[in-house]
Amino acid sequence: MKVFVKAPAKINLSLDVLYKRDDGYHELEMVMTTIDLADRLELTLLEESEIRISSQSRYVPDDERNLAFQAAKLLKQKFQVEKGVEISIEKNIPVAAGLAGGSSDAAATLRGLNKLWGLSLSIEELAEIGAEIGSDVSFCVYGGTALAKGRGEKIKLLPTPPSCWVILAKPPIGVSTTEVYNKLNLNEISHPNTNLMVQAIKEKNYQAICNNLNNVLENVTLSEYPEVKQIKEHMEKFGADGVLMSGSGPTVFALIQHDSRKERVYNSLKGFCRQVFAVRLLGTNHLS
Ligand code: ATP
Repeated sequence: MKVFVKAPAKINLSLDVLYKRDDGYHELEMVMTTIDLADRLELTLLEESEIRISSQSRYVPDDERNLAFQAAKLLKQKFQVEKGVEISIEKNIPVAAGLAGGSSDAAATLRGLNKLWGLSLSIEELAEIGAEIGSDVSFCVYGGTALAKGRGEKIKLLPTPPSCWVILAKPPIGVSTTEVYNKLNLNEISHPNTNLMVQAIKEKNYQAICNNLNNVLENVTLSEYPEVKQIKEHMEKFGADGVLMSGSGPTVFALIQHDSRKERVYNSLKGFCRQVFAVRLLGTNHLS
């Protein structure tokens, strides 16, 4: 018996860091949405009580460090599942890119195993379990578009934003999320108006979504890595409707509605960046 699950990447339409909490985590306020760039997972039921994991990507650990493995282990322990699973990951989302690839693989594993192991858990229960694995896993369990608070695990679902193209470009550098947060000066942040972004999505106002794109981590990464700034300026110059860095970077995305402009931005980026993608914004959740 097999189950196939799609694990879409996310982008941040807005990311605010409110303050540092006593437990060391940052209190966040983020608007996130899923895009049609996805890993594909094949989950095969094993009669023996074992979790096996594999992927062709050399950047992804194929042992217990993999977040999909951790998701399976957690679910197995919590519900005393006797059977096992073989997880095979087709990795399409760039790794360590600010696109929550690992978190989405973990979330897809939870959704898939819920079926494969016949657990009949609700999506809310799966999201709660996901929070134990990582901050972005809860959102990825739901998918779609949401306002996330706390460490990212308090999810309020939002309607699907207007359809558009998302062009992503990832320069060949690795950015450490922890380092970016450490370098962030909380006293110098100019906070986004998250309510305006939420309102724009509710009103399906594409222009207002583009006008309110904001990520407080962007300046930290931009000042460290000139190549990220260069990509951003390039997308703006070639006619993107809105441009922002996702998560802690280094991936930058452009929102574009017109097909001809999408071609122009995409082709111009292909010249100097190896990892460039043109995909549709998904924004619909896994509830149905
Ligand atoms: P986020 O946006 O949530 O900060 P990210 O896109 O920056 O995440 P990931 O692609 O999730 O980062 O990978 C971060 C690290 O997690 C990688 O360096 C990798 O070693 C580890 N990892 C564990 N499991 C996975 C997985 N299934 N896919 C990708 N990376 C994984």
